[in-house]
Amino acid sequence: MPSIDSLAERLSTYLGPDQVNLVRRAYFYAEQAHDGQRRRSGEAYVTHPLAVANILADMHMDHQSLMAAMLHDVIEDTGIAKEALTSQFGETVSELVDGVSKLTQMNFETKAEAQAENFQKMAMAMARDIRVILVKLADRLHNMRTLEVLSGEKRRRIAKETLEIYAPIANRLGMHSMRVEFEDLGFKAMHPMRSERIRTAVKRARGNRKEIVNKIEESITHCLEREGMQGVVIGREKHLYSIYQKMRGKRRAFNEIMDVYAFRIIVDKVDTCYRVLGAVHNLYKPLPGRFKDYIAIPKANGYQSLHTTLFGMHGVPIEIQIRTREMEELANNGIAAHWLYKSSEDEQPKGSHARARQWVKGILELQQRAGNSLEFIESVKIDLFPDEVYVFTPKGRIMELPKGSTAVDFAYAVHTDVGNSCIACRINRRLAPLSQALESGSTVEIVTAPGARPNPAWLNFVVTGKARTHIRHALKLQRRSESINLGERLLNKVLTSFASHLDKVPAERVQAVLGEYRLEIIEDLLEDIGLGNRMAYVVARRLLSEGNDQLPSAEGPLAIRGTEGLVLSYAKCCTPIPGDPIVGYLSAGKGMVVHLDSCKNISEIRHNPEKCIQLNWAKDVTGEFNVELRVELEHQRGLIALLASSVNAADGNIEKISMDERDGRISVVQLVVSVHDRVHLARVIKKLRALTGVIRITRMRA
Ligand code: MN
Repeated sequence: MPSIDSLAERLSTYLGPDQVNLVRRAYFYAEQAHDGQRRRSGEAYVTHPLAVANILADMHMDHQSLMAAMLHDVIEDTGIAKEALTSQFGETVSELVDGVSKLTQMNFETKAEAQAENFQKMAMAMARDIRVILVKLADRLHNMRTLEVLSGEKRRRIAKETLEIYAPIANRLGMHSMRVEFEDLGFKAMHPMRSERIRTAVKRARGNRKEIVNKIEESITHCLEREGMQGVVIGREKHLYSIYQKMRGKRRAFNEIMDVYAFRIIVDKVDTCYRVLGAVHNLYKPLPGRFKDYIAIPKANGYQSLHTTLFGMHGVPIEIQIRTREMEELANNGIAAHWLYKSSEDEQPKGSHARARQWVKGILELQQRAGNSLEFIESVKIDLFPDEVYVFTPKGRIMELPKGSTAVDFAYAVHTDVGNSCIACRINRRLAPLSQALESGSTVEIVTAPGARPNPAWLNFVVTGKARTHIRHALKLQRRSESINLGERLLNKVLTSFASHLDKVPAERVQAVLGEYRLEIIEDLLEDIGLGNRMAYVVARRLLSEGNDQLPSAEGPLAIRGTEGLVLSYAKCCTPIPGDPIVGYLSAGKGMVVHLDSCKNISEIRHNPEKCIQLNWAKDVTGEFNVELRVELEHQRGLIALLASSVNAADGNIEKISMDERDGRISVVQLVVSVHDRVHLARVIKKLRALTGVIRITRMRA
């Protein structure tokens, strides 16, 4: 059990006697203030602030941080006023305590929820004096270490908050050791079974790896000795939570992750780092493209090191980090490593400290610029969580999505029904394509329509699993019902020509045919027909029993209504529109493709009743159909605008326009126009003909 005396002794290794005494005074003050209070574990309350101070002492923090650690729960838990602390311990310490208390009152439910205000407070506190956050992190670390006494629900809430808020902050401030401890403790509390399973597996793997690890370590040490360089070689292991995340995120097997051998070489100075790098590259072949020089170009949080990967004996991959002792200290404790508060104000802070301060300074400026807290919070979150985007619902709720998400992902994140009936979106109040990647801070509004259905093209751009699964599911259902519908019409058409109908076929006969095809229900058979996997003609003959192999005599065409959906498409080669003579080509698995009767692409199978069927257009056919027109006309100014307004005047819609040739006098313009039918097309063409200078208009077909 650590005591104030043992702490004071440790402190005297790096603090002056006056400063150590101030820390002692703060301890005794806290002990009195918390007198009679106990922690959940039954210990006297003051053991908690003492433990927090010990964590900060491990990082060699200054005396004011340690005093604030001792007093951090006094304002919150004992009702002593900030002013009392000011008169006892001075402005700086009371400000620190006040800052930590304000952070304590915040509740981070999830990182995505609207805690803009809270985040802002935290950032403000950090910006004013970054020691506030260091004390808060130490406080959280001790609470995580003693989490077991809490109830399951509270434990999980705190662990989740630690993983989502505190671990990223520690990471951002370069405090690797703290981040690792946050993550492993948080993981253990959230998923005790998984954590335990990975821990046991690591332990087992460690035994198996021991021999190879020793061999590699020896060979590197020998190599350094041979070259006359000083360096300590340390084997390293991934922490449990990072193994778990790799297994989950990258779907890698445990053995695959453990198959990498990782070492760190700690040397005296920067120059030696590069020489050691040369030596190990000589020892084992380096893997191309894996070398990273974070000494010359440090990471955003100040991290410095050389990274390389080597092919060891028998091809085992060996990851090597090379750094100086100072860089190692920095990598572990980040901003806390080079605590410079004691040095004079005008001295330039360096390394990770300078970078972290710069980041915090940036936050403060941002906060002043942003004006509203939601905008501000977005910026801070982008910084802490670069792989996510944060967007707002029209009501101001924050939604967290993976980077690259689109409005469709957003719609499905709001609700499955919203996703399924989504037809358009407004981003920051402007209509935008559904496929556009969302940017953090945008407000997204989804326009829905009753009866709307997911579009198969969405699958090309959605990134979230939820959107993908639901679109697939909806399309499957839609496709099935449409296929059944088309299949029934196709089958009845043939049956009618045999003077029969599906309703008239005896149930036993239907069952017998289903049995032959190894199908359960009639819908499965109809779906197969609709999808083009089975010929209606063949099925009809089986249903009407054998012996009846006369070709149907008066086979009437099937009417196309334009509402068949996914199982019916219009051939791109000849673009038929209502009014054109048409024929249907059944393509296995895809359903029916409608061609012009005269289309060259089907001329060879045109009269094969198993592949092509007669079609005509239903009287009430609906929809818009694209046709391509080629317009030759004398070149004139503003010609595209003229064409567009003529098409418009005839209620047509231009889908695509391109100018192909231009020899100075004659222009050739290709137009894709959507129309309702042939009559409509004739009206469009008439309007175009009326333009001066038009020489010829041709409808294009293969
Ligand atoms: Mn506390």
